[in-house]
Amino acid sequence: MKQEIFTFPLWDAFQENTECPLCHIMERAEESYISGLFRDMVNDVNFHRSLEHMSFCSTHFQQLLNYRDKFGLALIVDKILLHEMSKLRKFRRIMEVPYLPSKYHALNIIRKIFNRHTNQYDIDESPCFLCIHSKDAMHSYAASIIQLWACNSKFQSLYENCKGFCFKHFYLLIGEAQRLLSGPQLKKFCQATFSLQENNLKRLNDELNWFIKKFNYYYVDSPWHTSRDSLKRCIFKIKGGSINQE
Ligand SMILES: [Zn+2]
Ligand SMILES: [Zn+2]
Repeated sequence: MKQEIFTFPLWDAFQENTECPLCHIMERAEESYISGLFRDMVNDVNFHRSLEHMSFCSTHFQQLLNYRDKFGLALIVDKILLHEMSKLRKFRRIMEVPYLPSKYHALNIIRKIFNRHTNQYDIDESPCFLCIHSKDAMHSYAASIIQLWACNSKFQSLYENCKGFCFKHFYLLIGEAQRLLSGPQLKKFCQATFSLQENNLKRLNDELNWFIKKFNYYYVDSPWHTSRDSLKRCIFKIKGGSINQE
């Protein structure tokens, strides 16, 4: 039963007319995780503690800001600011240690602390709570898609008739398949997924070429067919995730 509930979003996403069903699943999963975060975690002590060393990337902060619960977000931001202020107080205490032999030693300590923090922010913008959760969820969903494909012929035909995947999720599925499948089943999955991706990239490229042709006065009165939004869908295919397909 638990398995059926978990696979329900997979069936749903593969019936959608989308350039990447996995992006569709992740979008829904993130929405429900964010509403759960506001509902259950805003007052959770362990979540507050995790904000000492974690925060949110700009994309996820924007998503949180778009959510209706401004009160919950204000409580989260308050915790992040309080942790940062307490960190600054600690730095200040170190800087003001009276027994440092000379100002040069104090400067060295400050430089060391700030270099470490600047590097941390440069490399990973401080770990994002939602990016970490989404990455784990994305791997679980990719694994479930492959397992469902392997044991359910109805899903197999649904899978093989979808519009392929964004670049990131295509490579993720191929990578996960190496871990979960073997022998003829692995070969069949890879062949099906590669054909699916190639055929759909060709289909998108044809649509984009028609879109390009429409800029030529010779084609100005010709119909758009399906190409009117093809540029957006091509960029979504390349980047997935936050690119809006609408
Ligand atoms: Zn995707
Ligand atoms: Zn993030």
